[in-house]
Amino acid sequence: MSSLPLVFEAPRRGMPPSHLADLSTEQRRDAVTALGLPKFRADQLSRHYFGRFEADPALMTDLPATVRDQLREALLPPLLTSITEQSCDDGATRKMLWAGHDGVRAESVLMGYTDRATVCVSSQAGCGMACPFCATGQGGLRRNLSTAEIVEQVRHAAAAARDGALGEPTRLSNVVFMGMGEPLANYKRVVDAVRRITEPAPSGLGISARGVTVSTVGLVPAIDKLAGEGLAVTLAVSLHTPDDELRDTLVPVNNRWKVAEVLNAARRYADATGRRVSIEYALIRDVNDHPWRADLLGKLLRQHLTTKFVHVNLIPLNPTPGSEWDASPRPVQDEFVDRVRASGVACTVRDTRGREIAAACGQLAAES
Ligand code: SAH
Repeated sequence: MSSLPLVFEAPRRGMPPSHLADLSTEQRRDAVTALGLPKFRADQLSRHYFGRFEADPALMTDLPATVRDQLREALLPPLLTSITEQSCDDGATRKMLWAGHDGVRAESVLMGYTDRATVCVSSQAGCGMACPFCATGQGGLRRNLSTAEIVEQVRHAAAAARDGALGEPTRLSNVVFMGMGEPLANYKRVVDAVRRITEPAPSGLGISARGVTVSTVGLVPAIDKLAGEGLAVTLAVSLHTPDDELRDTLVPVNNRWKVAEVLNAARRYADATGRRVSIEYALIRDVNDHPWRADLLGKLLRQHLTTKFVHVNLIPLNPTPGSEWDASPRPVQDEFVDRVRASGVACTVRDTRGREIAAACGQLAAES
């Protein structure tokens, strides 16, 4: 598989120090041995970090005090500092704003539902994909997040959910890569993070791969590569319109990989993994909400993916500062849903959480 074109790779500057969550089980043992400690210290650390969501060595009282200091420095340096935490939707949505060691900002959002708890994580500080309706896209890319910086967002959310941040203590069940950044433009770190998130404790956080969704603008070579990783995560493709002419402006990477190429890659992903692909469609008033686009969307999805392998997730556009674009009126949205369904393709409307704290899809800008 060819590697991604250089233009999609962020500079390496500013990457954080290495951390336990960057390492596989085997690498953790090697790292501990390199510090002159017995291997079992690595397993102890893993049980604290991945099994109990504990990242503070001071609280790991089964480790001798001197060893705790040594391990903090070498393997558990604090990576993300909490800047603010806000909640809304009666406490069912919480947004965390983080600062990296170099000051870059990233956000994650924890959402409680009756049957599950989901964290939406960032994979990059900023984003280089420049979609005009997305707040993150307006600021450009600052840098990739490291594997551990991604895993830390999940570990923190898992601890918070367990400790009652959403009301009743809950188990974190879902992780969606729908925060800041294009996950497949930070490919290796994201895939490693998915492994850390899904491997059973104490190797990883033990969240089922079925509960993990990676959302992409449609970087075709990376979708194909992901299909070969043996990870049964759900792929979400941000399509937003079925025609190349409009998609060239709504999702600028469409100038490189066209709608048909992206849908064919989604089909290959579905074939390789047996998982239904989710098609994301932010419905924008008078921009992409026309009945003919709903019909064309249904037709193309049937053609490229067959109805068994696809599901459309409509997202009413969340307003972003400085944009004149808005969500479609309810009757227009309803007709769009009806038309997609009439073509035999499953279609649901995403519930928009976190709007008033700018925590909804596409609103993460991390200004502070
Ligand atoms: N870069 C990835 C993940 C980021 S965001 C991707 O594009 O898929 C997750 C979803 O939110 C994407 O489908 C994105 O297009 C959508 N989105 C971005 N801005 C939005 C907005 N203002 N309103 C609604 N959805 C938005």
